[in-house]
Amino acid sequence: MADIDVVICGAGIGGLAAAAALRQQGIATTVLEQAPQLGEIGAGLQIGPNATRVLHHLGLRDAMDQISLEVQETVNRRWQDGSIIAKTTLGASATARYGAPYLQVHRADLHSALLSAAIDPDFPGPAATIRTNSAVVTIDESEPTRPKAVLADGTSIAGSAIIGADGIRSTVRAHIGAPNEVLDSGDMAFRTLIDGDAVRRDPVTRFIVDWQAGNVWFGPYGHLVIYPVRKQKLINVVGIGPITDEVSANWSRSATHDELMAAYQGWDERVIALLSKADGPIALWAMKHQAPFSEWARGNVALLGDAAHSMVPYVSQGASQSIEDAAVLAEELAGADAAAVRDALAAYVQRRAERARTVQIAALDNRAVFHLPDGDRQRERDQRMRAVDKNVDTKLDWIYMGTPLRREAVPSR
Ligand SMILES: Cc1cc2nc3c(=O)[nH]c(=O)nc-3n(C[C@H](O)[C@H](O)[C@H](O)COP(=O)(O)OP(=O)(O)OC[C@H]3O[C@@H](n4cnc5c(N)ncnc54)[C@H](O)[C@@H]3O)c2cc1C
Repeated sequence: MADIDVVICGAGIGGLAAAAALRQQGIATTVLEQAPQLGEIGAGLQIGPNATRVLHHLGLRDAMDQISLEVQETVNRRWQDGSIIAKTTLGASATARYGAPYLQVHRADLHSALLSAAIDPDFPGPAATIRTNSAVVTIDESEPTRPKAVLADGTSIAGSAIIGADGIRSTVRAHIGAPNEVLDSGDMAFRTLIDGDAVRRDPVTRFIVDWQAGNVWFGPYGHLVIYPVRKQKLINVVGIGPITDEVSANWSRSATHDELMAAYQGWDERVIALLSKADGPIALWAMKHQAPFSEWARGNVALLGDAAHSMVPYVSQGASQSIEDAAVLAEELAGADAAAVRDALAAYVQRRAERARTVQIAALDNRAVFHLPDGDRQRERDQRMRAVDKNVDTKLDWIYMGTPLRREAVPSR
């Protein structure tokens, strides 16, 4: 076992990925989660090959095969009639190019898989200690090489390093003096899951389950992303549109079926047929983000995931980037003794911050591209999309290649 230990604030996908990756390097971790129970929201997630290959390295290849679906294509469509603007082939050609597949998964299933890699006895290395009901309120750096995460009740937990994986409203980020302003993107998202069987039974919507794809409808000032998860038992819906002041102020709230239908009035009849089947919880989320910055570490304290680089989800990469962070963090801390932790964290930031910044910018750029009102610029955009090589999405290729890792070969099983 390594002679350093790490305290991770936040047990989201980023925090658990870090716990699993550090465990694999023989490093003990304590994960502090403010919520009373561990978990993720009921929604889907697209995982790029840049993150899938990390998950495979973490010993989760079989688990990912069981819980996720390999995306064969992304299909970009016009909002009014669903006509296809352009397709990008993924599937086997993406796996061959990037060494790992592009996946669609239920968030809770990925969260559980990462939790098992962090704590199950079947995995090598010291199991992480997870503490719920443990909101970190500040960091005590009076002993710089042994910082402490301080909880609301005054308890403090010391480690050789403290990693802030505590999301967009990060306490750790505020502590290290990083710019902490949260920006409104101007958008909000309807999020819901629809019964896959109901979608399969209706000939109008059946195409959603006939072919495992990410279907995206582009419309004026909004877009809609639809794909199956949980072996097609559920259909994930993310509907983006202009935000209201009230949703911006509240960050998130539940929405009614009428609100969802009203937002997509006049869209492709297949969209209407699909949304009309939404009979479970519907949520509305403000799409907030933070401006890129590169000072993710101060001394023995560093940031990871949304705490470091929250972004709008228009390249579907926030969670994938946090998984990449975890892999690089673990590589840099592997073999470090207490005196080397500070430099190891600086090296982690050096390898990750510029890439994550570029992904943040690419995501924001897509906002303008996706939401063009009908007209000349929209027609030019569609033309550009049609001209792209169908086997390689040139815009995303460098993202899917991922941060170069020291251990490149993906284990066979
Ligand atoms: C609509 C939408 C669609 C998306 N789609 C995709 C996609 O397809 N692919 C993709 O890769 N990404 C996607 N994302 C982005 C992705 O959801 C996030 O980037 C990712 O979940 C961030 O994980 P995280 O662990 O860094 O942060 P979080 O998920 O925010 O987790 C932070 C954790 O820290 C805890 N915490 C917070 N403060 C404290 C504290 N003080 N003390 C202790 N614990 C604390 C929280 O309770 C939480 O458990 C999407 C986002 C949205 C909004």
